[in-house]
Amino acid sequence: MTFKALVVEKDASGATHAAVKSLELADLPAGEVLVAVEYSTVNYKDGLCMTSGGGMVRAYPHVPGIDFAGVVEASQDPRYRPGDKVVLTGWRVGETHWGGYGQKARVKADWLVPLPAGLTTRMAMAVGTAGLTAMLAVMALESHGLTPGQGPVLVTGAAGGVGSVAVSILAQLGYQVAAVTGRPETESYLRALGASDIVPRDQINEVVKRPLEAEAWAGCIDAVGGAMLARVLGQLKYGGSVAAIGLAGGAALPASVIPFLLRGVNLLGIDSVLQPYAKRQAAWARIATDLPLDKLESMVTMATLDDLPRLGAAILAGQVQGRCVIDLN
Ligand code: NDP
Repeated sequence: MTFKALVVEKDASGATHAAVKSLELADLPAGEVLVAVEYSTVNYKDGLCMTSGGGMVRAYPHVPGIDFAGVVEASQDPRYRPGDKVVLTGWRVGETHWGGYGQKARVKADWLVPLPAGLTTRMAMAVGTAGLTAMLAVMALESHGLTPGQGPVLVTGAAGGVGSVAVSILAQLGYQVAAVTGRPETESYLRALGASDIVPRDQINEVVKRPLEAEAWAGCIDAVGGAMLARVLGQLKYGGSVAAIGLAGGAALPASVIPFLLRGVNLLGIDSVLQPYAKRQAAWARIATDLPLDKLESMVTMATLDDLPRLGAAILAGQVQGRCVIDLN
């Protein structure tokens, strides 16, 4: 039996090439659970894994796709049975293990989460790794004392995947959301998701000049990193926190420690890849209740396996708005 997958190969010169190919079940890596993948998505990491590999892909040929949702076809693990609907994010799937850009995937049972009640496989991938990460960031800010009414919460990289979901969840929970974007044309989209203020990227993307500025933000979900994150640290209100989830603007952090010492601000690291099972389940359960489905739908662009190379290049260039869902049916 054959199935379709996006396969990345490396030639003798070291260049990678991605193309849709037919594979057989015997081609799949080892694992306890065989899943018929229904939907996957496009994340920033997927853009890297489809092109340079970003230092994450170790062996070729490779099937990328860091997340997927589908139906169990066969399982050697008692936790899963044929017909069960499942979601996978993280665990280096799509990086060191073949991922969701194939109609079949074989993975470890430990990596799966049962599809949360109230979500379809398509909705789960509209959320995807990006949405799960946004929810983990909201939960981290809450556990450090953030509540609505303390002032605006900033979301950077707002029109991207993580940012769009973060804006929607925060607005739904009653927070005043300020959205940083470098794309002025996304203003009406961001306002429809629930942002009440739009902050132009240029206004906040400069290297820190003064370690402390006026206290502006009760909290922040930051997808950008770099100079923008450093700047935000000096603009947080006393005791406020930034959940750092991404590096779309750079991995360096040209910051001062003064905001930590004089304003007691917190820098919270968010990793979605190795989150323990209980935390994953809790985050998915919160997504099912706290992410308005009409807003989720407004973020989604549908695409197919054939569209992936183009979408991978677009997300690396910061040109994707919201969430791309890949239909593998
Ligand atoms: P997207 O490309 O969808 O979103 C990133 C957004 O950042 C862009 O849409 C753009 O938003 C903004 N941006 C892009 N380039 C720059 C730049 N040079 N300077 C400032 N802003 C920029 O990616 P995702 O939302 O999927 O991922 C965002 C980040 O989060 C990535 O770095 C990704 O690797 C990371 N990530 C981390 C996870 C974790 O576990 N910690 C999990 C998932 C993602 P706009 O146009 O609105 O300004």
